[in-house]
This record gives sequence, C-alpha cells and structure tokens, in this order.
Amino acid sequence: MHDTVYLDGRFVAAAEAKVSVFDRGFLFGDAAYEVIPVYGGRVFRPAQHLGRLGASLAELGIAPPHDEAGWNAIIARLLAQAGPGEQSLYIQVSRGADTGREAARFAGLTPTVFAMLEPVALDRAALRRGISAVLLEDTRWHNCHVKSTSLLGNLLLRRRALESGAAEALLVRDGELTEGSSSNVFAVLDGALRTAPADRRILRGITRDVVLELAAGCGIPVVERALALGEVARAGEMFICSSTREIVPVTRLDRSAVGDGEPGPVTQRLIAAFDALKRDFVEAA
Ligand code: PMP
Repeated sequence: MHDTVYLDGRFVAAAEAKVSVFDRGFLFGDAAYEVIPVYGGRVFRPAQHLGRLGASLAELGIAPPHDEAGWNAIIARLLAQAGPGEQSLYIQVSRGADTGREAARFAGLTPTVFAMLEPVALDRAALRRGISAVLLEDTRWHNCHVKSTSLLGNLLLRRRALESGAAEALLVRDGELTEGSSSNVFAVLDGALRTAPADRRILRGITRDVVLELAAGCGIPVVERALALGEVARAGEMFICSSTREIVPVTRLDRSAVGDGEPGPVTQRLIAAFDALKRDFVEAA
C-alpha cells in the first residue's frame, strides 16, 4: 500500500486513516467496493468500474457519494503516487457510521468513502502456466451481481480451495458452473467459448466483458450459457479472469487434467490479445 490513502474527503497517511467502530461496513459488511487495474499510471476501464460501483450502491440503497468527475479527481490524486509498475486501485463505500449497533438503520447516515492504491506483485508468468482449481457448491447468497464487501462466503470457499492445494474454487449452483470465488470462468467446448450469463448468480466482471470483446475480435464464437456439471469433464480448455489476475488458464480441475493439462490454444490467443490491448493502452498514455 502507498503512504497516502483517501478517507472521507481527506488524503491522509495510511496509518492515520481510521473509521468508527459503529461504521456499518465494519459491523455488517454493509458496503460496496471496486478494484480497478492501473497500467502505465492510468486506470483501465474506469467508466465501467465506476458504473458497476454505482449499480452496486443502487442495489444497496446507498446514495452515490461522488459523480464521475468527483471520483476521477480522487483517483488522479492517488495515482500521483503510482510508480511505473502495475497497481490496483481499491474503492469502498459503506452506508456510514452510526452511533450504535442498530441493524435496521438504512437512511440518514453519511457514506464512508475509502480509496487506496496498492502495488500488484503477481508472478504472471507462473500463473499463465496454469493453475489448479476445485469444484465447490456455491454457498453464497443470491445477489452475487452486487460487489459487496460481505465476502465471507467467497473467502471460505477460497480457503477450502487453498486447503486442498488448489488456487481457485469454481462454483456450482443448480448443477451449473457459474464463476470462481474471486473470478469469472470460461471454458472451451464444442468449438465455442462458454461462460455463464451475467445474471444474479455471478459478478459481471469487467475483465469478463474485455474477454468477450477480444473473443469477438478474434472471431471466436461465444455462448453465454453456463456449463452443466456433466459438460465440465468434456471442456478442452478452461480459464478464469479478473482485474488483478487477468486471464489465467485452469489446467487441472479436481486433480484431473483439463484437456491435455496445458494452457490451450484459445486461451493463449486471448491472453495474447489481452496483452496487445494492454500494451496499446499503456502506449496511448
Ligand atoms: N466474480 C467474483 C466473485 C469476483 O470477486 C471477481 C473479482 N472481483 C470477479 C468475478 C471478476 O471481476 P473483475 O473482472 O471486474 O475483476
């Protein structure tokens, strides 16, 4: 984390940034958040991320604390600290701090707004050789399209994956593969790229949207229909995607190889297209 963070209208040293113990984000997880990649010192797809934050806040009934220009001013000031490496910008908005613990208080509070910039230190080359994943029943709630800080369900699933030696949990709901515990998931089956539709069972990832664009640009057919459990074993390729991890091949699932156990040609093509997009973005700065 960089030295200066944003909290409620002020830029302060991270160690000095404090919120009330009565903040509803702390007591109830009553908050929404965003994670925006920063490449070459610029935020990638800011309008899409801020749009999704606005949609999450609307679902929670929290008034948006800033308009796009207001967010951009905060972001610009935080980005002034960015070094040349990849960073990630975190934004969180809670319903605000109350004076006690009253569950049924939804109005009349001033939202708590926090933002910070963090360096991304991932071994992308290692990730791109492929990760292993496990299939787990999705035990989360029914509003997974909201990017809420109430992440206990996601975290416990991720922990179970890590404990079994896998890097990600791929989630099953109603007998269908929906998304990862912190990522969206794609598979290659019968000559098409398959991913679950953007309904309430998944978070509609900004990276997922980028992958759909890149696939269209590469002429790869896409079907937005979740894989049935019975189809999973037939998938020739699988990958997950998210803002921080980008596109990561899943080469082992529940200890079996996916396809031939190596990152497949469609996945590699999409990774190359993503890298080209990122390069163009950085060079256009
Ligand atoms: N689904 C879940 C549950 C996630 O936590 C994430 C990452 N925050 C994603 C999907 C991917 O979203 P994005 O591409 O916008 O990072």
